[in-house]
Formats: sequence, C-alpha cells, structure tokens
Amino acid sequence: MKRCIMHLDMDAFFASVEQLDHPEWKGKPVIVGGSGDRGVVCAASYEARKFGVHSAMPIVQARKLCPNGIYADISRGRYVEISRKVMSVLYSYSPVIEQASIDEAFIDATGAGHLFGSPLEMAQGMKQKIFDTVGLTCSIGIAPVKFLAKIASDYNKPNGLFAIYEEDVSTFLQELPVRKIPGVGKKFVEKLDELGVSTCGHVLEYSLEFWERRFGKSGIALWERANGIDERAVEPSIEAKSESAETTLHKDTLDKVLLKKWLMRHADRVGQNQRKHGLKGRTITLKVKYSDFQSLTRSKTLPDPTNTTDVIYQVAADLLDAIDLVKPVRLIGLGLSNYNNTGLEQLNMLDHMQHRCTGVVRATKKQQQIDEALDAVRNKFGNKVICRGSLFGFTDE
Ligand SMILES: [Mg+2]
Repeated sequence: MKRCIMHLDMDAFFASVEQLDHPEWKGKPVIVGGSGDRGVVCAASYEARKFGVHSAMPIVQARKLCPNGIYADISRGRYVEISRKVMSVLYSYSPVIEQASIDEAFIDATGAGHLFGSPLEMAQGMKQKIFDTVGLTCSIGIAPVKFLAKIASDYNKPNGLFAIYEEDVSTFLQELPVRKIPGVGKKFVEKLDELGVSTCGHVLEYSLEFWERRFGKSGIALWERANGIDERAVEPSIEAKSESAETTLHKDTLDKVLLKKWLMRHADRVGQNQRKHGLKGRTITLKVKYSDFQSLTRSKTLPDPTNTTDVIYQVAADLLDAIDLVKPVRLIGLGLSNYNNTGLEQLNMLDHMQHRCTGVVRATKKQQQIDEALDAVRNKFGNKVICRGSLFGFTDE
C-alpha cells in the first residue's frame, strides 16, 4: 500500500499560547523568551516576525528590532498541557503518532483513508478539531514520505495545508532548494554551493557514486532525498504507544449501567482504530474522575494482545465493577496500551500459564466476526450508520 504521512506543526506555538491566554496580545508582536535580557527568543508571533525577530535570536537584538513588542516569560507547564491535548486529538485519528517535538508530530495516515475521507479531508478535520479543542491553528503537510511531509507543513504556514502527491514528487523536487531538506545544514549547503548545486534538480545531475565518494553517508542521503526516497517509518514514541477515549459526562453520576454504556462506546472506538491499523494491546486501563476532580485508574494486563471491542469492554467493565464508587463520576474513560508493534499475535507462554486458570477474558470467534462485520459497514458508510445493539438509542445527552 502507498504510504500517506502527515506532518503537523503548531503555528508559532509558544507565542500563540501566550496570545490565547492574554487576548489583549492578539494581533501584536509577542516575543517569548527566558532569562530576561540575557536570554534568547524561544518563539516570536507572526506580528513580531515582521520586524525581523525570529527564534534563537538574542533578546537584546530583538528589543532593538522591535522595541514596542510584548516580551513574555516562558510558561512551560501551559505549553506541555496544550501539547498533550493536541496529541490526544491526533490519536483519535491514528494510533501511529511520532511526536517530534512539543508542537510537532508525524502521523501515519496510511489506511486511515476510509475512516476519515481523503487525506486532505482528514487533515482538514484534524485542523478543525485541534482548533476547537485548544483554540490554536496548525499547519499540516501530506506526502508519501516523512521529509516531504515536513517540508509541506512549512509550505503555507500559518494555518496551512499542503499535499505533495506521489505523482508530483519529482516535479516538486526539481526546483526545491537543498537547504530545505531537513538535516542539510549550513556547512553542507556551502560545500554544495561550491559545486554549483543549489536545488534537488542539480543533485541529480551527478551520480549516486559521485555523491557517495564525495560525502559518504551524507552524500547517499542527499541523493536519496533528491530522488524523493525516505524509507523512515513513523515510529510511535514509547509513551505514545497507547490509545484512549474518555468523556466528561453532562451530569455527574453514580449509575454503573450508564457508565458501562460509555465504556462500550469507548471500547468500540479504540478497538475499531486498532483493528484499522492492525495493532493490538495487552493492557486495558480504566480511568474515572470523581465530581471533585480526584481521579483514579485501574489496569489489567491480558496474556494475549487484543483489539476486540467486547474484550476491551469486558475488562474495563470488570475493573469498574471492582470499584466502590464513593462519589459521583464526572469523567469516564478507557485506554489500550502495551502493544506488540507487528500486530501479530505474540504468544507468551509464561503469561499463558499464569493466567490459564484465572478467568481471563479472551475474544471468541463470534466477537471477532461481529467486529469485522461492523468495521466493514462503517468503513464503507461511516461510523454513524450502525452501532452495537447494546448502544442502540444511546446518545451523548
Ligand atoms: Mg511550530
């Protein structure tokens, strides 16, 4: 299958968060930096960039260029909080997310097409959902390989969306300056300049052997990129290897029957996403937040990895049953983690022996067939057309 990779980059992230938290700073040059006048610029709003201010510039220099700018301290905790929210939006689209920095991520959207429409529609949806969730804009690039997705996200910034399709890759690369290739630094650019090489088109005028002889590994990489080759996969980061779904209820409740309906809905969504990507997890985590915001989690690890809705649900429901609800619940969620990345069944004999006699929940053939049938219908007609019998008539209200 052809790969579809997206790169998401928040627009002027730190500066935009400051403008969000201080609405009176909107439309004004905001410069975020630490350590008073001895520090460097961490982020500059687009208004500040017009004055020539950019990140990594000494604050002193920025003050000369933009004396009337607003100079804000770094609100690290706030950036992390918003970053987490952004990333969790991404997980509702694909479990294969590689967070590249606090405000950047690669998304493997290969195979997610049927669920969310065309890649452009999917990216459009992501941008909207991120804006609705955190109130900030981002830019997304779409391409068959990682480095082009990253270049594409920078193409129409801010609030950009740009796709480089397989059939357009060579045309796009022909005029692309080599300095735009991630990893090609200043010094390398200078050396290439001496050879009269400034675009990817120029790179291809020399053979792979030439580049290898001249620059070794970097030369090979350059030739590959100029040909649109980038074999790197989107690698989910360790802590990112989980998928979850949670809901803050309209009304706090002690009703376990109602809470279990939510668990079924969450299990269904998480399971469906995992199946779509051929992933399975072994650990199911239940999350409950009480009306006083105190929260608790309970986990259970299964001997076999699963992505079967009923199994995920049953384990979470059992975990809920084991809890004595002391206060009304305001949020209920569940997560699946502990993946085997290949998506293949991993038979762990030791675990098998330990769990054999302890009433472990395992998927039956019938449950798997129900999942397959539901997925097939939903992939074709969308998620709303069909639901499990137990969720019939159950709405968000
Ligand atoms: Mg950014």
